[in-house]
Amino acid sequence: MPYKTVDLHCHSYYSDGTFSPEALVIEAKKRGLWALALTDHDSIDGISLFHQAGKKHGFETITGIELAAEYTAFQKQEIHIVGLGFSPFSQAIAEILEKRHFPAKNAMKKWFLPSIKLVLPFPMRK
Ligand SMILES: [Zn+2]
Repeated sequence: MPYKTVDLHCHSYYSDGTFSPEALVIEAKKRGLWALALTDHDSIDGISLFHQAGKKHGFETITGIELAAEYTAFQKQEIHIVGLGFSPFSQAIAEILEKRHFPAKNAMKKWFLPSIKLVLPFPMRK
């Protein structure tokens, strides 16, 4: 059974990555990946360009984000939660990002997650 390789966690220069969303798509395709998720820290600012690049280069792109949160069940610690496959136009993500409302340079700042589920089913289309 043939396997498809995907990377569900990468960052563009819209958070702490080095490459543009399009450069990530080009590199992922060059390396033989089948799909790539853009999971910038606390931002979906690069998602539109990312999906446009996917269409342009014939490559599967997945909407994602990586949210920093405080986990306090045992001891206070920072965790990062990756959300995948949501609509970048959803009200839920708009509300989360609006509540954050801080400059990109503070993107790693800690915050508390609202009680909302972000990890949604992976959209398998092929
Ligand atoms: Zn990350």
